[in-house]
Amino acid sequence: MPVNKICCIGAGYVGGPTCSVIAMQCPDIRVIVVDKNKDRINQWNSDLLPIYETCSWPAAITLSEEPGLEKIVFCCRNRNLFFSTDIEAAIKEADLIFISVNTPTKIFGEGKGRAADMKYVEEAARTIATISTSSKIVVEKSTVPVKAAESISKVLRANQKAGVTFEVLSNPEFLSEGTAIDNLINADRVLIGHNDTPEGKDAFEDLCSIYTRWIPRDRIIGTNTWSSELSKLASNAFLAQRISSINSLTALCEITGADVSEVALAIGQDHRIGPKFLQASVGFGGSCFQKDILNIVYICECLSLREVAAYWQQVIDMNEYQKERFTKKIIETMFHSVSEKTLTIFGFSFKKDTGDTRESPSITVCKRLLDEGARLHIYDPKVFHEQIINDLVYATRDPEKVNKSVNIFSDPYTAANYSHAIVICTEWDEFINLDYSNIYYSMKKPAYIFDGRKILDHQDLSLIGFEVFTIGKRIDK
Ligand code: NAD
Repeated sequence: MPVNKICCIGAGYVGGPTCSVIAMQCPDIRVIVVDKNKDRINQWNSDLLPIYETCSWPAAITLSEEPGLEKIVFCCRNRNLFFSTDIEAAIKEADLIFISVNTPTKIFGEGKGRAADMKYVEEAARTIATISTSSKIVVEKSTVPVKAAESISKVLRANQKAGVTFEVLSNPEFLSEGTAIDNLINADRVLIGHNDTPEGKDAFEDLCSIYTRWIPRDRIIGTNTWSSELSKLASNAFLAQRISSINSLTALCEITGADVSEVALAIGQDHRIGPKFLQASVGFGGSCFQKDILNIVYICECLSLREVAAYWQQVIDMNEYQKERFTKKIIETMFHSVSEKTLTIFGFSFKKDTGDTRESPSITVCKRLLDEGARLHIYDPKVFHEQIINDLVYATRDPEKVNKSVNIFSDPYTAANYSHAIVICTEWDEFINLDYSNIYYSMKKPAYIFDGRKILDHQDLSLIGFEVFTIGKRIDK
């Protein structure tokens, strides 16, 4: 059955960009992205989109220069791409529905247990079942625990109207924030898990027929549903594991005189290993890595696979250790106290080229510094000021302290003025080429730089007069 109308439930970092690209590549398909969050939908319908995404791959698509998310949305919106809060109407008219809602981590058992909170997925499935008056293909886009499609099918079957059927596919999203449009247009692979039944195979072909408009057929992988669900969790777990592995060597490097960048280069040149995700840092963040590993840990614990759970838990523990170690290093270096001192934080998003702050290492570092009595000046090129304050109030549970001790700035030079130290928490390109001589002269002395992302030229900074610390390298004076 050809797909003419698509509905996507969830207008977030996945639903918004994914459906924008589908709308751009399939002008004959009507795509409606719905969300229960009115503000978010209003933003998608405004000139200031809720998500910032560029694209460095103009040749691949039909739009003219700078084909970032903004350009795509402005081009397709109200032609074949719509953003709406009318969830029921969009479900009713769709042939295919993506469930792209959030699946955050749920804490239970006196704070000890962590698992994926499936309440939004379940809510979406219930709405689909009760509203639908015709048969639909329901596609899990959200990252979910293995076997979630079984629970979704159960909810759909239990609530469906007579004569209506649902076929559930798993089609996890592998985009990475900051490069989402590139990833969607030139996907390494599209994974589609389906039932091994005639209906399952037909639904698989229907979804394939959308992606093959711009993705070569041999990049589309068809698997059983459970392999697809587990592959998504495992992909993120492997990426996070590489970061924790390289980070696990940084303390050793700082003590012995080895340089973690040289070690990473030497390791990565081995074609069996490769160079990606070997950049040592203050730690990984983002809404997915930790959540997806916790998901594996939880499933393994439920299945009494204790050793497997402990193995993956260690990846997260190493990440926590790294954030804590970095902050401790800052405090120790500054005469064992940052109380009443001003530290300028460069970067608050969890990585460059996104305004997303979820699980950002900056939050942990800022919270610890505030706990120690520091005053913070924060500058990030893309994160909304209000978001920074909200994150820190949530992390510290102390709005008064945040109001008193945190100032947000719109330019890095003013932020650095009269501060005792610069702390690089996000690897934004613009931090590389700042005029650090100028910054040095505006700061209190001794002036420190703590480079949590290893992006600066440390020799140059030392020559200017800075006291420099960088992850994974001893800097001899
Ligand atoms: P998000 O929080 O940015 O967006 C989810 C949206 O769903 C929210 O706007 C929320 O209001 C909406 N929503 C929740 N329940 C709803 C309902 N019943 N009806 C209508 N709207 C509803 O989340 P995201 O970052 O887009 O992630 C979505 C899923 O994709 C998650 O499972 C995530 O793990 C996965 N994923 C995320 C990324 C990423 O980089 N962010 C990458 C790959 C996969």
